Amino acid sequence: MVYFDNAASTPLDPQVLEAMLPFMLEHVGNPSSIHSHGRKLRAAIENARKTIAHLINAAPAEVFFTSGGTEGDNYAAVGSIRTLGLQHAITSPLEHHAVLHTLESLAKAGAIKLSYVRHDERGQLDLSHLEELLATHPRSFVSLMHANNEIGNLNDIQTIGEVCQRHDAIFHTDTVQTMGHYPHDLQQLKAHFLVGSAHKLHGPKGIGFVYNRAGIHVEPLLHGGSQERNVRAGTENVAGIVGLAKALEIAYAGMNDHQQHIQGLKDRFITKLTAEIEDVQFNGTSAEADKSLYTVLNVSLPPSEISEMLLFNLDINKVSVSGGSACTSGANAGSHVLTALGADPMRGAIRFSMSKYNTAEEVDFAVAQLAKLYRKIPA
Ligand code: PLP
Repeated sequence: MVYFDNAASTPLDPQVLEAMLPFMLEHVGNPSSIHSHGRKLRAAIENARKTIAHLINAAPAEVFFTSGGTEGDNYAAVGSIRTLGLQHAITSPLEHHAVLHTLESLAKAGAIKLSYVRHDERGQLDLSHLEELLATHPRSFVSLMHANNEIGNLNDIQTIGEVCQRHDAIFHTDTVQTMGHYPHDLQQLKAHFLVGSAHKLHGPKGIGFVYNRAGIHVEPLLHGGSQERNVRAGTENVAGIVGLAKALEIAYAGMNDHQQHIQGLKDRFITKLTAEIEDVQFNGTSAEADKSLYTVLNVSLPPSEISEMLLFNLDINKVSVSGGSACTSGANAGSHVLTALGADPMRGAIRFSMSKYNTAEEVDFAVAQLAKLYRKIPA
């Protein structure tokens, strides 16, 4: 069995589990309690916050724990729009649904007018169009992700942040797919909000954080207790928070080695797929090292009768991947990203997403299984 679906979720690092276990088995209590049990948990939370803040070059008071990327995206969008009186939002049709559906629901409710930045057929954003939109609608909410989770395209969030700053916009960037894979420096990056999710970087599921720039106060999504300085009510997931910080620490410490290893696997995929399967193509800027996230390769396969059952067939052959063609029906249905790119709905699409745990042998195995399926097609 090989696992190439790391953009969906990564395996837990055993060192992360080890750091979490005492907070599940030994340390009892509620971090809001003032007794020694509670204070021990509170200290663990604040240490984790400091670790994360230090790694992304932010202040601990700018880091708030959430249940993951989806909540962070919702908090930034809903909070900013409700609290800061923003009447216009700008995003792109290629964003994750955690951003798109949130902004669309706000637009539907009449809270904002929503505009989409133009992009080309490879998913590259037209930043002059962003400038134009902001010139007409200054003080907008702008949400543009760092790396696309389906096709791996990297956006130049440094430049986007500078454009937003010139137009007094609030800039939120979904960094769920790049957190722990590239360094983030909040002293350089002109973002007001940025989000991370532990399970994309070998941490546990159901825990993440939002960076909220100092001085930007927005309404919480969840009302209740005064946890997280009134930004996020609810008893903290202490073990998850400890695991998130540990996972990010490990990711930063090994970042260069992991990048080299995973980029090597990606290059191997590209070379082997091109050699083994006729007319294989790559969606977005997936195959270009400097323009795409090294953990993601989105492969476009020639039209065939097996396109619809591709994921199922690969699963039977012990390869776990994600798919999503541009067609609107069938087993592979419904990638809004590939549809926005105008990808041929007849072609199959597979996303191979890799982690530090994958090997060259696994790449060879996955390519061999895919090639076997394609060779079965009658000429
Ligand atoms: N944003 C992006 C780009 C993602 O890839 C994901 C996860 O698939 C999310 C947000 C949602 O994160 P979570 O699963 O932590 O809610």
